Amino acid sequence: MSDRIKMTTPLVEMDGDEMTRVVWRKIKDILITPFVDLKTEYYDLGLENRDATDDKVTVDSANATKKYGVAVKCATITPNAARVEEFHLKKMWKSPNGTIRSILDGTVFRAPILVKGISPLVPSWKAPIVIARHAYGDVYSAVDARVPKGAKAELVITEENGAKTVLPIKDFAGSDGIVMGMHNLDSSIESFARTCFEYALSEKMDLWFSSKDTISKKYDHRFKDIFAELYQSEYKERFEAAGITYFYTLVDDAIARVMKSGGGFIWACKNYDGDVFSDMLATAFGSLAMMTSVLVSPDGCYEYEAAHGTIPRHYHKYLKGEKTSTNPIATIFAWTGALAKRAELDGLPDLADFARRTEDAVLATVASGKMTGDLALLTSIPDAEVLDLDGFLNAVAARLA
Ligand code: NAP
Ligand code: MG
Repeated sequence: MSDRIKMTTPLVEMDGDEMTRVVWRKIKDILITPFVDLKTEYYDLGLENRDATDDKVTVDSANATKKYGVAVKCATITPNAARVEEFHLKKMWKSPNGTIRSILDGTVFRAPILVKGISPLVPSWKAPIVIARHAYGDVYSAVDARVPKGAKAELVITEENGAKTVLPIKDFAGSDGIVMGMHNLDSSIESFARTCFEYALSEKMDLWFSSKDTISKKYDHRFKDIFAELYQSEYKERFEAAGITYFYTLVDDAIARVMKSGGGFIWACKNYDGDVFSDMLATAFGSLAMMTSVLVSPDGCYEYEAAHGTIPRHYHKYLKGEKTSTNPIATIFAWTGALAKRAELDGLPDLADFARRTEDAVLATVASGKMTGDLALLTSIPDAEVLDLDGFLNAVAARLA
């Protein structure tokens, strides 16, 4: 077809595993290539090819994302002992998402997709709450130990020139106990803050950040200060011009406000808070299959994906020739998010319009009562029609055409 929408810069395409690899192919064939003259630089992150390339393909795909600025990623298997055996792997390769994140130095933003007929568990939430987790340090790379009764624990800081500062933690005179030392880096906190400010500007959404600085007067306070200093020096004017706000509050106040809010903002969280609250938000917004995720680097590279995994249970049914009612929505939105970002960077209004119309067609299809089985269990729409994967994609394509 010659009248398909043209692209200029290639999108970095990272293929993946199992059922999501099947979903990936079908989305491209049914929803995208009939309408867009798709230009991608393809990287096969399927586990067989990661093994065959000694995982070089993952590194190459991350470097391509640095070069072009926008990637779309399919869910991939993170190998464990069982997968090493199943796929006869040379070794237990690292999580591709972890590898890509460390190369891009990025922050993951998780955003729920809201649709008529699937209500969040919190009735006041009318717009998405996007959560950003600082995925470095704190309790995740802490050193901890059990301490016997009678021992003393101290914190020792030895400077480059040998100068020592010794801070007493606790005299365990009366009881056995436990102790932990954890750290973070100004550079990592600043890069997290910068990514959050950039993403808020790119989405035109307010940004919240929370910590416990009243209790943790040096540690959490440092996070608060770094955010505040960067905001004042580089982002205040741009936020005001964009009509958005930056708001800091204590984490317990934040949670109270989040529950009463109407949504529609980005919530930046410290590592542990983000781990815990992202699972709470995903559940409260409905389904893992309706959660998208975007990795944003401080220098403005974007990698879009669905938050769910490779859905092996559905894949085993598919391999037996059975139909599955797999929900492709988060993966479709990963594609539309990436295409829309490419369109924005390259000034391609037709491509931007296609991405928006595809998302609208998905939402209208569900709102009309046609949906996959996972949503049919949650919906308030009476007599919802449960479709299989192909049936749902074809219903969306029919609307789009
Ligand atoms: P999962 O693939 O997300 O699937 C867990 C269950 O959630 C499924 O069995 C299914 O429930 C439901 N589900 C998830 N997505 C769905 C969708 N789109 N439509 C319908 N139902 C959906 O998680 P997992 O089983 O824990 O992990 C499987 C593999 O994925 C692992 O190898 C893991 O390493 C990988 N993984 C990758 C990523 C990533 O690449 N970002 C993220 C997480 C996990 P029912 O069985 O009830 O239908
Ligand atoms: Mg978690």
